[in-house]
Amino acid sequence: MIYKPYGNTGKMISALGMGCMRFKKEEYQNGNYESCAAIILRARELGINYFDTAPGYCDDKSEIICGEAFRQMKHEKPFYVSTKCSLRNAKNADEARKMIDQSLKRLNVDKINFYNMWSILNLDQYKEYLKKGGIYEGACKARDEGLIDHICFTTHMRGSDIAKVASDGVYEGVTLGYNAVNFAYRQEGVDAAHAAGLGVVTMNPLGGGIIPANPDYFSFLQHGNDSLTVSALKFIISQKAVTAAIPGYSSIEELEEDVKAVENLKEISNTDLKNLIANLSEELNALCTTCAYCDSCPEGIPIPQLLESYNYYILSKGDAGQVKSRLGMHWGVDGKLAAKCIECGQCEALCTQKLPIIERLKEIAAMFSE
Ligand code: SF4
Ligand code: SF4
Repeated sequence: MIYKPYGNTGKMISALGMGCMRFKKEEYQNGNYESCAAIILRARELGINYFDTAPGYCDDKSEIICGEAFRQMKHEKPFYVSTKCSLRNAKNADEARKMIDQSLKRLNVDKINFYNMWSILNLDQYKEYLKKGGIYEGACKARDEGLIDHICFTTHMRGSDIAKVASDGVYEGVTLGYNAVNFAYRQEGVDAAHAAGLGVVTMNPLGGGIIPANPDYFSFLQHGNDSLTVSALKFIISQKAVTAAIPGYSSIEELEEDVKAVENLKEISNTDLKNLIANLSEELNALCTTCAYCDSCPEGIPIPQLLESYNYYILSKGDAGQVKSRLGMHWGVDGKLAAKCIECGQCEALCTQKLPIIERLKEIAAMFSE
């Protein structure tokens, strides 16, 4: 296993971490957590030392499953846990403290190594976390008492906003969605966060399953004998600016395949990365790459988020439910905003992919008018 420094924290974490949100429901729903915990235990045996969870994951069972594994791992080599608190979980510092106490208890640990302000969607939410008496303040108090090591954030913001937050020096690390579909939207943020000394953890390395589910579409990613999944993973963690990727696992077999894939992984040079990114952009010709060049709509329409969600319509060959779920669950954007388009054409003139944005917005508006 390769280990990389998590920003300036002094901690070395495995380049392959584990997201603890994909355990099989049929295995945990009856309160039998052992088979799920076994995946975590095997991951630790294979050298993974970074485990990411959250209240609410797996019907709110993920932290408990982690706690079961951590109880058994306690006296072995050190490992690190990351968990989260959102604006929905807590309204103020006291409520945040209750969430922290609950996580500590469920996780069976004395300290949370990485505590995240969860899913910051825009700069207003960034400020909301930091307000006087807010969640960040509660986390700082817990850190002062030795219950938390580092305060970080997770986000779905565009790269330039991530860069702004990173440069403010409030957080020590960021976890963000980053993969071969949306890299252009986030690259600036990844690079800026790394340059500012933050750890950079990437979730959703397979685009929410969109990449392996569409092997023909994404075949250009594949190298040598590597599977598509492995190639997509290597694209991310061979980058210097990325500390770790955290795929989720439902089985030990999936985990072992990825661990094998990252053995002997070499860092990619900046030149090679730029070339790869240029090639990827060409291949993704019908998809929105979320570069955000179009993001100045006079009607305030969040075009990159709407068009990125439309990617799922294309790749699923016409499933409107996937667009709705992506907009609601991932972006927190109301699809009805697509109907506000006045067809001025500004965005299409700016689009790096030359996409028919107006047509796609009309289709999205129709999906939400039903
Ligand atoms: S064409 Fe529509 S979406 Fe594009 S900038 Fe004009 S109003 Fe906004
Ligand atoms: S619609 Fe075009 S310009 Fe806008 S984010 Fe997508 S690819 Fe970039």
